[in-house]
Amino acid sequence: MRAMVYRGPYKVRVEEKDVPRIEHPNDAVVRVVRAAICGSDLHLYHGMMPDTRVGHTFGHEFVGIVEKVGSSVQNLQVGDRVMVPFNVYCGTCFFCARGLYSNCHNVNPNATAIGGIYGYSHSTGGYDGGQAEYVRVPFADVGPSRIPEWLSDDDAVLMTDALATGYFGAQLADVVEGDTVVVLGAGPVGLFAARSAWLMGAGRVIVVDQLEYRLEKAREFAYAETVNFAEHDDVVVALKKATDGLGADRVIEAVGAEADGNLIQHVTAAKLKLQGGSPVALNWAIDAVRKGGTVSVLGAYGPIFSAVKFGDAMNKGLTLRMNQAPAARQWPRLLEHIQAGYLKPSDVVTHRFELEDIAEAYHVMSSKLDGCIKPLIVPSAA
Ligand SMILES: [Zn+2]
Ligand SMILES: [Zn+2]
Repeated sequence: MRAMVYRGPYKVRVEEKDVPRIEHPNDAVVRVVRAAICGSDLHLYHGMMPDTRVGHTFGHEFVGIVEKVGSSVQNLQVGDRVMVPFNVYCGTCFFCARGLYSNCHNVNPNATAIGGIYGYSHSTGGYDGGQAEYVRVPFADVGPSRIPEWLSDDDAVLMTDALATGYFGAQLADVVEGDTVVVLGAGPVGLFAARSAWLMGAGRVIVVDQLEYRLEKAREFAYAETVNFAEHDDVVVALKKATDGLGADRVIEAVGAEADGNLIQHVTAAKLKLQGGSPVALNWAIDAVRKGGTVSVLGAYGPIFSAVKFGDAMNKGLTLRMNQAPAARQWPRLLEHIQAGYLKPSDVVTHRFELEDIAEAYHVMSSKLDGCIKPLIVPSAA
């Protein structure tokens, strides 16, 4: 089969790989119909995630058709059109039993802090991802879900991470009626978090980014007020001014380690292969939320981390909530919202590339060319 393959920082290409096999009776093999490139894939692409091995296939956002099932799989049949959450999880461990699918204890031999993620380096289990014609899906009875007839592939692929994560971020932020919600980052997750804040009753939504075309999208798609942090000496002061000097009730941090503004840390991270993540955006969140408010952290951070303003967070009485989204947990409610017409996930899609052109897709996404927000990948067999 054809599959995207990592060759080193800023080098990806499409190679021939063996079609994945059923390795365990609980496995399925899915023929990928749509995949997407995620902002967090850029951490891998930039060579900043530990244990990203040459030959690894990225892609934690994909939907497809079930091609094969293992002998003990009961909930899926060959031919089913399924969306697969970005999390790999067992469904039965202490954490899965509590809905903490992203924290599954049985799927990642390389770390205890995080569970499994498709196509996201060996630090999250080493599972090959869906930027390929086929992908092996372990624990096929608990992760994938049949896509309703009325939901398109383009919409469904956004459910596997970006939309579910954005919605989860608004949930973590404890948004209640009338709240002023600041969202840091106008990528797909930030845009969906902003839309979700409205769905939960927010009174004001303010999106912060530095890319004007993305702020335009935040105004048009997420009906948000926008602040371009590049236009302010101190974005926290700008946000305080916009919120009666008190700060926002809730801040959702949807930037993570991609935050520009701390180049030294960025470079150090690349050199040492420590995806520490610049805490700039997180510190903005801590500063821009009002006392007693909630900060919700969605941005992807690596395991090494430093220089968070923890003292200020304590003294302000903040609630800090964070996790990788347990994507499938958000699906029932999101499907209701989509079916009711409140949201069309694929509105954030800006580009579509053939799998064979994946190097170009990564380049466009990484360099933020051509108004890129969300690129989809279409395998030729799709
Ligand atoms: Zn993603
Ligand atoms: Zn588990």
